[in-house]
Formats: sequence, C-alpha cells, structure tokens
Amino acid sequence: MRSSYLVFGQPLIEPPEIDEVLASLRSAWLGTGPKVAEFERRVAAYKGVPHALALNSCTAGLHLACLVLGLGPGDEVITTPLTFCASVNAIVHAGATPVLADVDPLTMNLDPAEVRRKITKRTKALLPVHFAGRPCAMAELMAIAAEHRLKVIEDCAHAIETEYRGQRAGTIGDLGVLSFYSTKNIVTGEGGMVLTRDPELARRIKVMGLHGMSADAWKRFSDDGYKHYDVEEIGFKYNMMDLQAAIGMHQIGRVEAWWQRRWQIWQRYLRELGDLPLGLPAGWPADERHALHLFVLQVDRARCGRSRDELLMDLHRQNIGSGVHYRSIPSLSVYQRRFGWRREDTPVATALGDRALSLPLSPKLTDDDVGDVIAAVRHALRR
Ligand SMILES: *Cc1c(COP(=O)(O)O)cnc(C)c1O
Repeated sequence: MRSSYLVFGQPLIEPPEIDEVLASLRSAWLGTGPKVAEFERRVAAYKGVPHALALNSCTAGLHLACLVLGLGPGDEVITTPLTFCASVNAIVHAGATPVLADVDPLTMNLDPAEVRRKITKRTKALLPVHFAGRPCAMAELMAIAAEHRLKVIEDCAHAIETEYRGQRAGTIGDLGVLSFYSTKNIVTGEGGMVLTRDPELARRIKVMGLHGMSADAWKRFSDDGYKHYDVEEIGFKYNMMDLQAAIGMHQIGRVEAWWQRRWQIWQRYLRELGDLPLGLPAGWPADERHALHLFVLQVDRARCGRSRDELLMDLHRQNIGSGVHYRSIPSLSVYQRRFGWRREDTPVATALGDRALSLPLSPKLTDDDVGDVIAAVRHALRR
C-alpha cells in the first residue's frame, strides 16, 4: 500500500507562478491590475474570443451572467441536476427560478428532449454544464434556444479545453464561464472568467463585477492624474486580484501539455481497469474534444459487489483520495425544501450520481501514483 495519502484534485504549481506571485508581493500591487489584464488577454487568445473578464470565482461569473442577460424574478432557467450546487445557486441569486431537465445516461449532459419537455412560457435561458469536460449537445440546445428565444450560459468549469464541432466551449452560447478553483484544469486558487463575443455584455460584466463602478480602480490613478469615478449600477465585489492572475497567467501556457498528460492517464485507466465490473467513461465523437477533467467510474453494487461509498472508503483506507461528481441536485436537502424537488424527478442523474466515483486525474500524478490508484481499485474489488 502507498505510504503517503494521494490527495484528490491536486493542482500543479511550477516555479514561474511562484516567482510571479513573489514579484506581485514585492511590487505591492496585490489587487486588480496589469496581471489580471494579461491573464485575460492570454485566456481570450487561447479560447479565440474577443472578451474575457476575470472574476474571483466561476460562481460569481454565473451570477453576473444571469444578471447581465436580464434574468430575474418570474424567469425560468433550465439546467442540469448533475452539477455542482453553484450552477443552480447562481440562478437563485439572480432571483430567477431554476428548472431541472434530466441528463442523457451516456453523455451525462443535459438531454435536449428533456429540456424541450421543461419549456414553459416563462423559460428565458438554458444553463448547460459540459460535465467532466465532455461537450453538451450544443447543436440541439442552440436550436431549442433559437426556437424559443432563450439566452444560453455555458458553465465551462470543467471545460477550458472542450471543443464541439470546431467551436470552443464557452463561445457557443451568449456567455461562457470558466473556473480556476484549485481542483480545476488550470488554477488561480479561487478564480473564474466570463467569455463573450458581445462587447456590451462584456462591459456590463466588468462594471457589475466591481461595485458597478464605471472605471477600473487602477485606471483612476494613471499618469493623466486623478479622475472621478461614477457608480452606474448596484454591483458586486467580484474582481480577481493580481496575486491570483500571477498564477493563472502561467498556468494557461501549460493547458495543452497538461491535457496531453491527462490523456495518457485516461488511456491507462481505460486499459488497466477495463476488465473490472465497473462502468468506465464513454467514448465521444471525433468532432468533439473532451477536456478530460474528471474520470468518473460508475460503481454498481449489483455488478461489482461494492457500493460507491464502500469503494470510496476502501480507497481512502488505501491512502487514495477520490471524489463524488455529483450527488444529483434533488438529493440535496435545501433544494428539496425550497423547490420540493425529489430524487426520482430526475432518475437518470440521481442513479448516475449515486454510483459516481472520480479517480485522481491531475497532471501532478506520477506514473507510480497512477499505478497505485489502479492497484488500489483492483484490490478493493477483489473477490
Ligand atoms: C467548480 C464548479 C463551479 C464553481 O466554480 P468556482 O470557481 O468554485 O465558483 C461551477 N460549476 C461547476 C460545474 C463546477 O464544477
């Protein structure tokens, strides 16, 4: 057995980030400034989108996305039950009403037929999540949106590298939102970014992310002297710090190399776990690119003799951390109380969530670490 604990979802931090953070500390410019602007430029170039607005989280980005699209009380937003609570909470924070449509059992993404069933006169937007990094059925979802005049917000927390039929995730709908939380494909500790082609939406995200002020704080004290600021909306304090961007601006340069590393790990898991009585991630069409954010097993007690929780605890005892992505939203108590949702309302997502177990997939893993994970899973499932 491994001697040290393998923490799930560990980020890889390299010397350029460490040096850049130290440079920020030494320059005493900690808040929003030139490094945030540089990080935004680099992500915009990578995604091939004109506007990228850095914020302090993806959750903040999803909230502002709802607000700048005019979503509020009385409006319904359709999203997936197989997501992190933040996707749903952002809709609620905007004052709108979340509506869940069940997922496709193979892709684990919103099922367009289920989305159609949930449309009412009040439906104003779709909030698809590219689960685990696999793109949603965007052609179908965009067709539904066009037909019913809906806005589309892509939750790209797992999906920085995701592509769909030649388009990059986050640039297909009206707005796309990335996460740089510590477990995501690239990190800033906490952080997020909103992508859009629309200059007016970009401007409003920027204003609403910093108190509703019309000019950046750091531009007010430029060489031209002091300028008064205006507050044009009641905004939020959602800006990213240069300290965070100092990490992200170097991480973005490695996004492809790390994808390649996760691809190797992914292939090895498929090869070396393929004979076990477990559900492995499905393949995807050649015109899609998977971001390989989560390697999610399906653990069915009837098939392998262990429940998901038993396997998770067994791996934990063998010093292997794993994750659960996700217990379906209607399995969580606040949504049951507030919206009256029941687990059986979205049976596909609930069954997937009950059996889901994510194996470590960080580019920080060594070949020996990956071997330890495989050995531990095999050991846990021995008869
Ligand atoms: C992580 C995550 C978020 C929230 O990201 P933060 O940057 O932590 O706010 C939202 N949606 C999904 C699907 C996520 O995995």
